[in-house]
Amino acid sequence: MSFKYLCISALLISCTSLLCSCSSPLSSSVTESGGDAQNLDVFAMNTYMSMKAYGDNAQKALDDSRELIMRLESELSVTDEGSCIYELNKNGKGTVTDSAAVLINKAVEIGDRTGGALDISLYPVLKEWGFTTEDYHIPDDKILADLLSDVDYKSISISGNEVTLPENVQIDLGALAKGYTSDSIMEQMSADGVDSAIVSLGGNVQAIGGKPDGSAWKVSVRDPFAPDTDMCIVEIKDKAVITSGNYERFFTGDDGKNYWHIIDPADGYPADNGLVSTTIIGDSGLECDALSTAFFVAGKDKAVDYWRSDRSFDMILVSDDGKIYYTEGIADSFKNISSMEAEVLRLD
Ligand code: ADP
Ligand code: MG
Repeated sequence: MSFKYLCISALLISCTSLLCSCSSPLSSSVTESGGDAQNLDVFAMNTYMSMKAYGDNAQKALDDSRELIMRLESELSVTDEGSCIYELNKNGKGTVTDSAAVLINKAVEIGDRTGGALDISLYPVLKEWGFTTEDYHIPDDKILADLLSDVDYKSISISGNEVTLPENVQIDLGALAKGYTSDSIMEQMSADGVDSAIVSLGGNVQAIGGKPDGSAWKVSVRDPFAPDTDMCIVEIKDKAVITSGNYERFFTGDDGKNYWHIIDPADGYPADNGLVSTTIIGDSGLECDALSTAFFVAGKDKAVDYWRSDRSFDMILVSDDGKIYYTEGIADSFKNISSMEAEVLRLD
């Protein structure tokens, strides 16, 4: 995945955060009122991950989760030599792991459902911008056009675990890997007997149940215009809260403009279709992660149309003119703590 070269400052302004439950990357365990919390922080997939679990089995669940994260990273990383994605990109064909197959199939499905806004074959374009190496520059128009002519997730052929890519096509699962990873952690922790836990993978949050006292977790979403402050708070149980934003990873070009890491497959440039932040709240981290990136590219009208026809998730969108839109399913818990105007989106 891009398993990106995030610098620490970028991590600190990552999209979503746990209120009152952040722990320093070095802490490993604390006890809080309301139950015995065990914390574990891991640096993986080029991001800080922080996990908190409660109950008798918490420590084992956290240890198992760390092992799981490391396994998924070694399977899915686009840059680790030896990962199945690295091999696939190098050889144009390969046998991928079950996890990689799930991600590729989901990416193709969401690509289809969003008119190609999500396209995991953008990897050569991302490389050219320098988003994989932090050696940033604005690509030459001709080079970009050449690279873009080979971008098409529909050219990926997958049957079971066998994947074939046409010449010049390479894929990157960075848009949806963290969501899949948090889903997998939830499954692992549940299997270990934990029924109250919350994780933040570089700002992407997912929870099992609520807090040990039965109340909901409070999750804050960053203000994209002031990324070291929070914009709003939502309350969740058993849900993922996943954000994509133009402030997460960007560079300033020689022309003084900012260029960010979510690319519009239509022109190969950072997506600039009216949204500066998209947050998806739903049961599946994988689905939320895929949609947060796709909606960032697709823009508000298409995101709202998709939501109205699907209805299985909620979302918080922020437009580039400084307005928040949030869906009615979270209206009861949504708390706007910014000076921006916030409008509820209704189903009809
Ligand atoms: P983050 O992982 O930073 O929280 P996202 O989930 O939105 O944010 O994923 C962004 C990553 O997805 C980029 O770093 C890049 O690897 C990849 N990417 C960028 N644009 C697209 C796109 N249109 N379709 C699929 N993947 C993309
Ligand atoms: Mg995403």
